[in-house]
Amino acid sequence: MSLISFYPGPSRINSQVPRFIEEAYEQGILSMNHRSDEFMNLMSSTKKSLSDKLNIPSDYQIVFVSSATECWEVFAQSCTQGTSQHLYNGAFGEKWAKVAESIGRNTIRTQFDLNETIPYNTISADAEWICLTHCETSNGSYIDDNTLRKVHEQAAETLIAVDATATMGGLNIDFRLADYWFASVQKCFGLPAGLAVLIVSDRAVKKATAIGEMNHYNSLLNMLAHSGNNQTHYTPNALNIFLLFKTLSKSKGIEKIEEKLRERMNRYELLIAQHSNIKWLLDNPALRSPTVLAITHHAVDDLKLAAKQNGLVLGNGYGQWKHNSFRIANYPSIKKKEIDRLETFLMSFKS
Ligand SMILES: *Cc1c(COP(=O)(O)O)cnc(C)c1O
Repeated sequence: MSLISFYPGPSRINSQVPRFIEEAYEQGILSMNHRSDEFMNLMSSTKKSLSDKLNIPSDYQIVFVSSATECWEVFAQSCTQGTSQHLYNGAFGEKWAKVAESIGRNTIRTQFDLNETIPYNTISADAEWICLTHCETSNGSYIDDNTLRKVHEQAAETLIAVDATATMGGLNIDFRLADYWFASVQKCFGLPAGLAVLIVSDRAVKKATAIGEMNHYNSLLNMLAHSGNNQTHYTPNALNIFLLFKTLSKSKGIEKIEEKLRERMNRYELLIAQHSNIKWLLDNPALRSPTVLAITHHAVDDLKLAAKQNGLVLGNGYGQWKHNSFRIANYPSIKKKEIDRLETFLMSFKS
C-alpha cells in the first residue's frame, strides 16, 4: 500500500507529474541546451504562465533559483546594506534572520507570540527592509492581506520581503503588498524540490541597483540580467521548470485553488471542533494558515504511528512544538478522497 503524504514539505506530488516527466524525456527537455531557443521559449512561457495563473503584476520580475534558503541569502547579500527587521514567531522566520546575520548584515529581531498579530508599533524607522513569513510552516501561523496592508501603511517607504514558501501556488497573493516574494516548489506547487521562484518589484530592483552588489554567482543583478534574456546564470533545473510550466498550464487559476483550500480548511475546522482529543496549536482562527495546519495531541507519537498504519503520513511537529503537535499540509495536490481517509482516521482515533 502506498502511503498518502500530508507532510508540509516535501509534500504530495501533483499526480500529473509522472506523465509530464515522461513527456519531458520524450521531448528532449532533459538534455536541452540551456542557451538554445527551445530553452528560452520554455523559460519565457513558464514566466508568463506564472504571471497569468498567480496574478503577478507585469512590472514584477521573476527569477528561478534553487531553494527558498537561497532566496534568504540572495536577499541579504544583494538587497540589504543597512538593517533588515525580521518579525517572526517560528523556526523559518528565525532561520532567515540567522542567514542575514551570518553573512554580516545588521538585523533587528522582533519575536512575537503565536496568538498575536504582528506588533506594528515595533516596526523600526531604521530598517530598510521588513521581513515576514507569510505562512510560518513550523507552526501553521499566517499573515493575512489586512495585516500586510497595515505593515505597509506603518512604513510606506520601507521595503517588505515575504517568505511565501508555504502559500505561493495555493493562495491568491496580492503581490503589490510587498517587494520581494519567494517560494520553493515542493510545498503548494506539488513539485519535486530543487527549484524556487523569486519575484521582485521595481522598488526592489532599484534598491539592488543602488547597492550594485555583483560579487556572487547568484547576485540578484546578475540573475535579473540573465532572466531578462530568458536565460539562467547556471545550468538550470530544466525538468522542474518544465513541470512547473505543465502543471500551471493545466491549473484552474489561483482563485479557484484558494477557494478549494479554504473549503477544505472549513472542513478541518469542523472536524477539530467535534474531536475531543485534538486541538489547534493556534487559538485565534484568524491567525491560522489555510495551507498548513498545526494541531496538538497529548500523545502525538501514538497518533502518528496509528496514522501510518492506516497509510497516512502526518507531518512532525517542528522546533519547540516537536513533541506536542503534528502538522497537516492543506496543499492543492492532495485529493479529496485522501482527505476523506484522513478524516475517517482522525474521527476513529479517540485515545
Ligand atoms: C520549507 C520552507 C523553507 C525552506 O525551503 P527550501 O526550499 O528547503 O530552502 C523556507 N521557508 C518556509 C516558510 C518554508 O516552509
